[in-house]
Amino acid sequence: MSSRELEALQTESDAHNIVGTGALRGRAARGVKVDYESFFASRIADLQAEGRYRVFADLERKAGRFPEALMHVGGSLREVVVWCSNDYLGMGQHPDTLAAMHEAIDRCGAGAGGTRNISGTNHYHVLLERELADLHGKEAALIFPSGWTANQTSLSTLGSQLPDCVILSDQKNHNSIIEGIRHSRAEKRIFRHNDPADLERLLAEIPADRPKLVVFESVYSMDGTISPIKAICEVAERYGAMTFIDEVHAVGMYGRRGGGVAERDGQMGRISIVQGTLAKAFGVVGGYLAASAATIDFIRSYGAGFIFSSSMPPAVAAGALASIRYLKAHNEVRERHQERAATLKRRLAEVGLPVLRTPSHIVPVMVHDAVLCKRASDELLERHGIYVQPINYPTVARGTERLRITPSPLHTDAHIDHMVAALVDVWKRLGLQAAA
Ligand SMILES: *Cc1c(COP(=O)(O)O)cnc(C)c1O
Repeated sequence: MSSRELEALQTESDAHNIVGTGALRGRAARGVKVDYESFFASRIADLQAEGRYRVFADLERKAGRFPEALMHVGGSLREVVVWCSNDYLGMGQHPDTLAAMHEAIDRCGAGAGGTRNISGTNHYHVLLERELADLHGKEAALIFPSGWTANQTSLSTLGSQLPDCVILSDQKNHNSIIEGIRHSRAEKRIFRHNDPADLERLLAEIPADRPKLVVFESVYSMDGTISPIKAICEVAERYGAMTFIDEVHAVGMYGRRGGGVAERDGQMGRISIVQGTLAKAFGVVGGYLAASAATIDFIRSYGAGFIFSSSMPPAVAAGALASIRYLKAHNEVRERHQERAATLKRRLAEVGLPVLRTPSHIVPVMVHDAVLCKRASDELLERHGIYVQPINYPTVARGTERLRITPSPLHTDAHIDHMVAALVDVWKRLGLQAAA
C-alpha cells in the first residue's frame, strides 16, 4: 500500500470518531484540558435518564438444561427460564454440537493460528464452507468471524468496487447492513419495508447500465415480519439488479433442510448472495456468505474485514458443521419450533395481551415506553424467575419498545403456562395497555 493510500485510510477512520465531541474541542481550544471521563459519564447519564441504559444479565447456561439457566444477581445465584435467546433451537447445547467441538479441540487445539491466507485455514473451515454452499444450493461459501462482519465487509466491498453502484436497501435493515453500505460510500436508496412496488419505483429511476444491488432480510427479528422474496426477486430481475438477502433469523429454521425462507419459498436459485450466521439457530458463532464461485472469490480476495482478521477456532467450525448437518436431517425440530411459537401467540392473545400476530417464530409483546419496558422485564425476573430482555431504542424506534419473546422447541407446555400467567400479573401490576 502506498503512503497516500495509507494516509487516506487513516483520515477515513478518524472521520468516524469525532462525532459529538464538538463541545470538548471548543473547550480545548480555549486552553482548558479535555475532561474525557466526565464526557463519558454524562453520555451514560443521558441513557439512564431515558431508561435505555443497558444492563447485561450475568448468566450461566447449563448444557442440557436449556431453556433453564442460572443468573448471578447481586452476589446470589438464581434459577431462571430464558425466553429471549437467539439460540432458537437449543443447538448450542445439542450433544452432536458439543461432541464435535470436543473432538476438534483434542485434535487441533484452541486457535486457528492466523488469518485464512497466512496459516489460518484449517480443514474444518473448508468442510464448513462446502456444507454451507450445499445448504443454500450455491457454488461456494465464505465464513467470517461473525454475521455482522459478513454483512459489513461484503456490502462495503461490493458497493465500493462495483463502478457507480446504487444500493437499494429495505427501510428496516439491520445495523450491520447499514454500516456496510455507509462504508462503501455507494449511492443508497431506501425502499419501504417489504414493499416490492416501492422498490420498483426506485429501480425505474436508475439508468439500466448502472450496477444495482437490492439488499433485504427474510425474517425481520424485531417485528417478526417475513419479506416477499419472490416478488422482490422478480422486480430485481426486471431491472437487472443483484440480490443480497440476510437470512440470519431464518437459517436452520425454515425450508426443508434449514436453508431459510428462500428455500421454503422455492426461491434459492434466484438470490445472488445469501448471508447467514452460525450464532443463532446453529448455536455456535460466526457468519457467512453463499453465492456463485466468482462472487465468493471476489469477496475473499478484496474484502478487508475478511482478509485482515484471524479465522475462527477449528472447534467452532466443527461445532457449526455438526449443527448444520443435524438440522438438515431433522425437519421435526422446525415443525415443533413453529408449533411452540404459534401456541404462545394464541395463548397470549386469548388473555388480551398486546402480542403481534407475526408470520414467524418471533413473538413481540408491545409496551410502547422505555421505562415501563425495563420495569416489566425486571418484574418478570424478580417475581417469576423469567428472563426477557427489554428491547429499546436504537434497536427499535422510540415509542415501539417491547418484550421480544423467542419460544424454542425445548419450551414445554408448563413453561408456556408459567409465562402467560407471569405476563398477566406484570401487566396488571404496572397498569400496562391490553391489546387494542
Ligand atoms: C444478529 C444479526 C446479524 C449479525 O450476526 P452475528 O453473527 O450475531 O454477528 C446480522 N443481521 C441480522 C439481521 C441480525 O439480527
